[in-house]
Amino acid sequence: MPETKTKKSEDFNQWYNEIVELADLCDKRYPIKGMNIWRPYGWKLMGNVDNLIRAEMNATDHDEVCFPLLIPESFFKKEEEHIEGFGAEVYWITHAGHNQLEERWLLRPTSETAMYSIFSLWIRSHTDLPLKVYQIVNTFRYETKQTRAFIRVREIHFFEAHTCHRDFEDAEAQVAQDQQIADRLLHKLCLPYIFCRRPEWDKFAGAHYTISIDVLMPSNRTLQVGSIHQYRDNFSKPYEITYETEDGSHEHCHQTTYGMSERLLGAIVGVHADNKGLVLPPDVAPIQAVIIPIIFKGKEDLVNTAAQDLYNNLKSAGIRTHLDSRDINPGNKYYAWELKGVPLRIEIGPRDVASNHVVVVPRDTGEKHNIPIPEAPQHITNELGFLAQRLYEKASQHLKDNYHQAATIEQAKTLSGIIELPWCGNDTCALEIEEILEGNTLGEPLEEKSCNDVCPVCNKPATRWMRYAKSY
Ligand code: ZN
Repeated sequence: MPETKTKKSEDFNQWYNEIVELADLCDKRYPIKGMNIWRPYGWKLMGNVDNLIRAEMNATDHDEVCFPLLIPESFFKKEEEHIEGFGAEVYWITHAGHNQLEERWLLRPTSETAMYSIFSLWIRSHTDLPLKVYQIVNTFRYETKQTRAFIRVREIHFFEAHTCHRDFEDAEAQVAQDQQIADRLLHKLCLPYIFCRRPEWDKFAGAHYTISIDVLMPSNRTLQVGSIHQYRDNFSKPYEITYETEDGSHEHCHQTTYGMSERLLGAIVGVHADNKGLVLPPDVAPIQAVIIPIIFKGKEDLVNTAAQDLYNNLKSAGIRTHLDSRDINPGNKYYAWELKGVPLRIEIGPRDVASNHVVVVPRDTGEKHNIPIPEAPQHITNELGFLAQRLYEKASQHLKDNYHQAATIEQAKTLSGIIELPWCGNDTCALEIEEILEGNTLGEPLEEKSCNDVCPVCNKPATRWMRYAKSY
């Protein structure tokens, strides 16, 4: 039977590296480091996450686009901070066929510089605003740190929304809407999260400010799964994105972006799984319920027919169902589907058929119980909802238990997870705390939180809180 050599509870990072391949999400044997192969099961799971994102985007009046992968160097060079931030991570194309290119091209590390010269052609008048587009594409970054499937890769499955607005306030409203979108989406993935306003020295290259979306992994390291950026007019000036106002004057647009990546999958794998394997949130599980016929000699037809009928009923009720009729021992099937994180297992044998019931086993609790066959679709739908709720609550409890406020560095050193310390506002103090805690500065809470303390480094008055954690 397939199982990881390492238990999740023993060594999370090692277990993670094993489970992503064992559960058929990806294949890491491709000979370019950080460029993994999506296997069918993993790609379906990612596709279901993408579908939730698309639904959210479409419901909030964003239009899907698809820009070219290659960006001319002249486009890329227009915004100085941005070049500085991404320069070391860019893959360059210097040749086409036998010819050296007159102007180099780069593989998009993100698409601001591909899109914004074109936005300046699309936007003419205030009636063209707001412009709200998004794309789900692959981006490329030359990672030099140790790679890890879905978490740190060089070819990244990426979602990016880009918006243009008439002024700062309208762009601020978009940032607020992005937070609501993130909240709904992450709830469907059963992932509690925190928003942080990234520190000035670690915001996105070219942004006015950046809000990060972080999830706490079982290793108590945070994983940044997304970010929302307010650009103000930092990009619209170099890219000349202007519009004509009602009175005929010309103004620069204000812009925002919202990005997320396959790291969402890394969070789903890491947060919900247990020692037996994955536990997938029902909203994105490629298979929500697997039916396993329990065959006895002489009763094959009876059971197979009932299993097929049940499969048809669940399928037509919109439940992603799989009927596992392979000729292998049911126990081996249980292990295989547990490993892959299918939320519900349904067992059906001759006695169940006779009593018009089936046995349902939720992946997370393993508690068997009977449900009547005629009302199976409704029961299964309910069970999926309960399971999602349990996953969310369990992960929320972990976040709550590992979220601390501390007054001193001594106290902070004894804690693990996300730690808030009073902050004087001086970057050197925060950077010193990073060093002492061997962690990263996540940023400040978005909500107003009063602080009447002293900075644990310089002892000057501190009126703000700063969050720190070890992160991926
Ligand atoms: Zn200080």
